[in-house]
Amino acid sequence: MSKAVAILGAGESGIGAAILGKKLGMEVFLSDAGIISAERKVILEQEGIAFEEGGHDRERILSADLVVKSPGIPDTVPFVVEISNNNIPVISEIEFAFRHIESDARVIAITGTNGKTTTTLLTYHLLKTAGLKVALGGNVGVSLAKLVAEGGYDYYVVEVSSFQLDGIVQFKPDVAVLLNITPDHLDRYNNDFQAYVASKFRIVENLTQDECFVYCADSVPVTKEIAKRNIDASLFAVSTTKGPKWQAFVDNDHLIFDYKFKKEGVKHKIPVSEVSLIGKHNMINAMCAVLSALTMGVTINAVLKGLKSFVNAPHRLELAGKIGGVKYINDSKATNVDSVFYALEGINEDIVWIAGGTDKGNDYEPLLDLVTTKVKALVCMGVDNAPLINAFSGVLKDIVEVQSAEAAVMAAHQFASKGDVVLLSPACASFDLFKNYEDRGDQFKAAVKSFSQSKTMQV
Ligand code: ADP
Repeated sequence: MSKAVAILGAGESGIGAAILGKKLGMEVFLSDAGIISAERKVILEQEGIAFEEGGHDRERILSADLVVKSPGIPDTVPFVVEISNNNIPVISEIEFAFRHIESDARVIAITGTNGKTTTTLLTYHLLKTAGLKVALGGNVGVSLAKLVAEGGYDYYVVEVSSFQLDGIVQFKPDVAVLLNITPDHLDRYNNDFQAYVASKFRIVENLTQDECFVYCADSVPVTKEIAKRNIDASLFAVSTTKGPKWQAFVDNDHLIFDYKFKKEGVKHKIPVSEVSLIGKHNMINAMCAVLSALTMGVTINAVLKGLKSFVNAPHRLELAGKIGGVKYINDSKATNVDSVFYALEGINEDIVWIAGGTDKGNDYEPLLDLVTTKVKALVCMGVDNAPLINAFSGVLKDIVEVQSAEAAVMAAHQFASKGDVVLLSPACASFDLFKNYEDRGDQFKAAVKSFSQSKTMQV
């Protein structure tokens, strides 16, 4: 008799799990308490997958052998509790996918509070540059389950969230990467930071000496937790400061790799200038990606080629244009103070800083030193700019207010001289003036482009 699998939630992961279940010949039923988009219904119908929306058919779901739950549904939802109480295993989509992955395929799983997408994309790019048959998935783009259903890959690079990790049992990547942990999503963890840390660490729970655990030694919650545990995996620590204990670190203008793996000594020295990313945080991301690639057998030449040619996802310290010797950088994704800190720290030129938007009660104190030493002028782009003005009027003479991306670019231009950087790194959400951070970044890029064209016309 075929196995009956019920899938809760018709998001990217639910649809992927349904497609995989169907391909495996299982009896699949997908149920969503909300409305399923027309586009997704077409896919389900084409695949011949039974589904419902606007509620759950309790009886049908409680008669399943296995339930795959969308990462968006908390474990505490009464119906999920009921399913578990009925001794039906409830797993996440990455767990389901992993159980059916080709046995010789290798998996690199990347998690952390910040930097997952950048590191996942870069790791994928390094493997791709090396000519490997590699798939990119998880939280970034296509679900792992859908990729497994497609098949034909030797490597899977996946971005993994803590919600996905909450539902694993056997999931055992060949390389697990943990970038950092800072308080986030605590509403799903009873406001208990330790519970969130434990969730992130589930990525190592099935690892043995044969698998690698790559982690950032600069993240205190990460190192504290490692000290408490006996992790069986081969450990690779990366740091932005030089240290004999680290397998990869930054030494002046170089990334140093120095470790032993499978009884072989490995040493590489890569100039930071060879990495197409800006900022210290991105050096952590780059070192984690390089270690993942090297331990999977990618050559250093392919790594170097890949590091140089990598183009990150938009809105993350992205070059929007260069006008009159001034670089305009779009970091619209930086919606909190932490991200802005890394952006300001990573840029060596004098900065005209564009910030503002919906302030979630930011504490700007950690930015004061960097702003004092690096920022020439502040352009506040928001409806209510009072918190920014209050925070920085003591250290900056030039602060102006604008209400659009176009006005921000014009204002920033007034303050910038040849060799400076104009940086959009808002520290705030975008909903006061824009649809979302992508819209804000796109409008900024369009404003830079049209300003650049108008300057060319004047010449
Ligand atoms: P995620 O997918 O985890 O949200 P992204 O790669 O999209 O991560 O980056 C999101 C933001 O986090 C970026 O704007 C960047 O400033 C910041 N960031 C990226 N990498 C790191 C890191 N290693 N440590 C801290 N912050 C980071």
